[in-house]
This record gives sequence, C-alpha cells and structure tokens, in this order.
Amino acid sequence: MALLPIYTAPDPLLKTISTPVEKVDDEIRKLVADMFETMYAAPGIGLAAIQVGVPKRLLVMDVVGKGKEEPPQPLALINPEITWVSDDDVTYEEGCLSVPEHYADVVRPAEVEVSYLDLDGQPQQLRADGLLAICVQHEIDHLDGILFLDHLSALKRNMILRKLLKQKKMAS
Ligand code: ZN
Repeated sequence: MALLPIYTAPDPLLKTISTPVEKVDDEIRKLVADMFETMYAAPGIGLAAIQVGVPKRLLVMDVVGKGKEEPPQPLALINPEITWVSDDDVTYEEGCLSVPEHYADVVRPAEVEVSYLDLDGQPQQLRADGLLAICVQHEIDHLDGILFLDHLSALKRNMILRKLLKQKKMAS
C-alpha cells in the first residue's frame, strides 16, 4: 500500500467530472486500498479518487475511523449514484482534505439512498442518515467536480479560495 498525494483547491483538477469504473479489477482494489491508507493517515472520513488525481467514479469513507471505541466502518463505493433523498435538510459544518483548515456550514438532504458497486463488482444499496449521509453526498459531489465551497455564497467561497492561494504561496 502507498500514501497518495492529495490535491488541494483551487487546483483545476478538482473540477474534473470523473468517468465510471468499467471493471472492478485488482487495479481498482489496489487504488481503493491506497485511498483508505491515505484517508486514515490524513486523517479524514472520506476521500474521492479525483482528490488523489484519478478521475474515476469511486470513493472511500469511514465516519468512525480507526482507534475509536466503535469498530471502524470502512466503505468503498464504486460508481455511486444517489437514487433518493429525504424531504428534510440538515446543516453541518463541513471540511475537506482538499480544502485544508477551512470549514463552513452546508445544507444537504438529511437522508439519502445510494446505489453502487462493491469491491467484487456486485450492485449494492446504501441507506444513510446522520454524518454518513452528509459524507456520501460530499464525496459524490467530488466525482462531479463539485467542492463543498461550491455550496457557499460567492463571497464566502472567494474568501476561502484567496486564503488557500496565500497558504500555497507561503508553502512554496
Ligand atoms: Zn472533500
């Protein structure tokens, strides 16, 4: 397994619309294993393939994480699609490994149903609420080139983008 580099905003790569995975093979399973390692090391609760530079529709999540009282809940979703959303919304202060050190309130449906392929290429359904519902919507957004920043007002988004550019300049 290997740690992968995480691309950060405003890198134009993050605007890429990812393409479906055609075949769930060993190459995909290795990418998923590397993405889990990268996500746990960061640490984060979700990571989409485009965040490590791979424009494929797949993501990994674990809203519990390692080293907690509860056992970890790793989930890998290939070609995920939202098939249902609840009528009620929730507001949650989101962060993102591609938007380091910035957090903002985002409003999303409170519950969702997602269809996807598992690591054996078998179709599965996920019904999610709470943090998992927020996380899976955030990660599926990445596959369509959308960051949580894109859900904010232009004023707020630009403020964060300017700060991120300044951070990048100072780091280089
Ligand atoms: Zn993110």
